[in-house]
Amino acid sequence: MYIGFDDTDSPRMGCTTYIAALLVEKLHRLGASFLDYPNLVRLNPNVPWKTRGNGALCLRIRCEQRIMEEIRESVVEAVEENADFSYRSTDPGIVFLFNRVPEQVTAFGQKAIQGVVKMSEALRLIGKFHAEAVGFKKGRGVVGGLAAIGETLERDHTYELIAYRRPENRSSRRRIEESSVVEMNTETSPQTFNNVDPETSRVLITPRGPDPILYGIRGENPEAVRRAHEIVHSLESIERWVIFRTNHGTDAHLHMVSSISELKPFNPVIARGVVAESARVITGGHVIFTLRDGTGQVDCAAYNPTGDLQAVARKLVAGDLVEAYGGVRPASSTHQITINLEKLRILKLAPKIVLHNPKCPSCGKRMESMGSGQGVRCKRCRFRSSKLEKVAVECERDLETGLQVTSPRSQRHLTKPLCRYGREKPNMPKKMISDWHFP
Ligand SMILES: [Zn+2]
Repeated sequence: MYIGFDDTDSPRMGCTTYIAALLVEKLHRLGASFLDYPNLVRLNPNVPWKTRGNGALCLRIRCEQRIMEEIRESVVEAVEENADFSYRSTDPGIVFLFNRVPEQVTAFGQKAIQGVVKMSEALRLIGKFHAEAVGFKKGRGVVGGLAAIGETLERDHTYELIAYRRPENRSSRRRIEESSVVEMNTETSPQTFNNVDPETSRVLITPRGPDPILYGIRGENPEAVRRAHEIVHSLESIERWVIFRTNHGTDAHLHMVSSISELKPFNPVIARGVVAESARVITGGHVIFTLRDGTGQVDCAAYNPTGDLQAVARKLVAGDLVEAYGGVRPASSTHQITINLEKLRILKLAPKIVLHNPKCPSCGKRMESMGSGQGVRCKRCRFRSSKLEKVAVECERDLETGLQVTSPRSQRHLTKPLCRYGREKPNMPKKMISDWHFP
């Protein structure tokens, strides 16, 4: 039995992972056995109607027929008790699917991570495969619930240990010893990642919202996040903790488009093209450059907090060949279609040409311009000429080819950080998924 659910939280309270944490304990008590860690699946972060973080949950269990009804009731009850129903755009949904995950449901999950899916598609699949859906209010969480069931995380995946706060502490500041996080990072990185921001030294494992999460530690395997959790010293007591298997830090959302004309709004993409003109800095310090190929053009934006990535974008000049990674924002009255950059790969640097005034033919000093179309003159020997032209000089590029990733503090959940390159897990054989019992 696969239990998927989504859209239970709101910006002011709750967290869908917490409902999963409660259910793990409850279903275990009822006699269900777990086929996998609870799955936390991040869906396309660029859809405008997403929930915070756009994370959907799936529990994969095996159980006897006689307790199935009780399990279903427990899940519905847990959502009813913990979802923020009074928040306008919180529309919880639960999906129960039985026996195996059909390929069409897997494809649906993939599409929900990389693109935009419709409620009607989810409902059609639920009907076709005799799944059961429970929707509250508009029930849009059914979409994420089905997508989480479909994403079986057979390709690259990571783990996150989430520790939860006691209810009485949830409105106050999180209290963990920062030095212990630094120590944990030193001890366990790169088996864990994104613990501390290298540019600002800020601790990244604690969220700041009013949700029940005290901290989340991300890593390559369950053992690493468990060990890291034991090193972190919390000054408030931890209610419970759970290890999730996730698509965090895998770039699962990005897909390569074959041309710029193919870009669709709200899709996370990788687009290749040539920089059309040098980057420009706009109000707020954001850096924008235009990328072009034979089919069209798109603006690429590196926003202020993106640190190193922005510094690199600023140095691009016309002719540079790059790949832009990020979410596509539709055109509006103020800007054209734009990729909000998560990463930038520089493939080839164009020569950077700067025009200098010519040297004085008489004394050798660099001449100066007398104004547009007025020719040049030598300040030292007073030689003048209206015929001498500017000379093109190639400057050295203060830039290298390679990949730039936005700073950990501004990375999306799905963004693969630099430290994970080369650590991707190989695809799991199909058979292993169905037979997999986690330790
Ligand atoms: Zn001169």
